[in-house]
Amino acid sequence: MKKVYIAKNPADAHLLKGLLEGENIEADVRGEFLYGVRGEVPITPDTCPSVWVMDDADYDRAMEVVSAFREEGPPNAIGSKAWRCSCGEENDSQFSECWSCGKARPI
Ligand SMILES: [Zn+2]
Repeated sequence: MKKVYIAKNPADAHLLKGLLEGENIEADVRGEFLYGVRGEVPITPDTCPSVWVMDDADYDRAMEVVSAFREEGPPNAIGSKAWRCSCGEENDSQFSECWSCGKARPI
């Protein structure tokens, strides 16, 4: 088993676990029970939930998923990026249509 990610909270850890499992990588979340007793234990990487891969052979593939996850953030944060319309105009994340040409935001 290898640790691939230290999460900020259990939801973060489980989100990544789901992504890994979607890539057929068997993963597990450890240490989430400690999260509930924060305040009683010192906050260190050991008291954050962590995500592990069961098979060391999956480690490299898992790390690719982790780095993509880190860059993109959880799905609910994807809207925070500006997007570029096919007309070339850059639009802020809150716009669902191009302010310039009115085309819908590409998915
Ligand atoms: Zn446009």
